[in-house]
Amino acid sequence: MYENKKIDLRSDTKTLPTEEMLNSILEAELGDDVFGEDPTVNRLEELAAKKFGKEAGLLVTSGTQGNLIAILSQTLPGDEVFLDSQAHIYYYEVGAISAIGGVTTRTIDGVDGYFTSEQLEGAIRYEDIHFPVSKLVSLENTFNRAGGKVITKKQLDAITDVAVDNNLKVHLDGARIFNAATALNTTVDKLTENIDTVQFCLSKGLSAPVGSVVVGDEETIKIARKKRKILGGGMRQAGIIAAPGIIAIEKMSKRLHEDHATAKQLAIGLNEFQGLNVKDPDSNIVMVDFSELGLTGTEAVSKLASVGVLSGSPGGNKVRFVTYRHISQDDITEALDRLEKMFV
Ligand SMILES: *Cc1c(COP(=O)(O)O)cnc(C)c1O
Repeated sequence: MYENKKIDLRSDTKTLPTEEMLNSILEAELGDDVFGEDPTVNRLEELAAKKFGKEAGLLVTSGTQGNLIAILSQTLPGDEVFLDSQAHIYYYEVGAISAIGGVTTRTIDGVDGYFTSEQLEGAIRYEDIHFPVSKLVSLENTFNRAGGKVITKKQLDAITDVAVDNNLKVHLDGARIFNAATALNTTVDKLTENIDTVQFCLSKGLSAPVGSVVVGDEETIKIARKKRKILGGGMRQAGIIAAPGIIAIEKMSKRLHEDHATAKQLAIGLNEFQGLNVKDPDSNIVMVDFSELGLTGTEAVSKLASVGVLSGSPGGNKVRFVTYRHISQDDITEALDRLEKMFV
């Protein structure tokens, strides 16, 4: 039955909406959200805020837009933003915070997406006529380019303590924050309690077709709403996006451990292959180094694709595999069988 099936491990953005989500769209109560009159959007934003223990929420078109809006809302052009040199916001978002927000980015080289509070302290500037104003720290959890690495509450607190002492705001790119909370066996409100704004994606492992949400305090979200408008992100009957988003938060956030289990199954299987040293993943992303097999990431990706196993390379000799709702344990077993035949 598997012969022609492609096993697509490129991204959890490949999740399709559930039947319940599609039905929720048909039944959603709608209005004009630019007027604040879409009841379903309002319900989603209140739910998100409550879930994160914050005052308010804002539905945005994408994670990229949410991160940009959150940073625009808390900085002025010329301000300095601290972030890891591998951070998604720095690496994969077209330089938006500089191009559009005019902020200067100060990258810090962390280990697996986490820089220490000492490193941050060392980078923060004091007031001087020559310097930009140090304004905001941006974190990411789980950390994509480190293979879905989970950052613990203790690690986050070490950073937020330094931020508070230095009058810095803290934004969290929590595209996969529900994966982090699942892995740490905690809740998103506890994990992000000392963080000012959080962006999370409805459209990745949570299976909604479109959208992200930014949560924070009332005042910041009010500014964020205006920033969303200036970016052309004010949408009208956006309840058709919010309805599946509500199911994403309430229901789909509770099944992510299944994706972590399939990722682990894949990592254990790959680790058996000669020349591959694969660590157990923290969440739903498995990062594999193919250098001992003499392959670049791109070469490995096309070799894998020739047997119908789709993956992606973040550069170098690395290949990234991501698990999600449509990837079963049988799919992983099949993928490993195909790879074994190919490599042996
Ligand atoms: C996917 C992702 C984003 C951006 O989300 P989009 O909806 O694709 O714009 C931001 N940060 C991280 C860590 C991501 O994985």
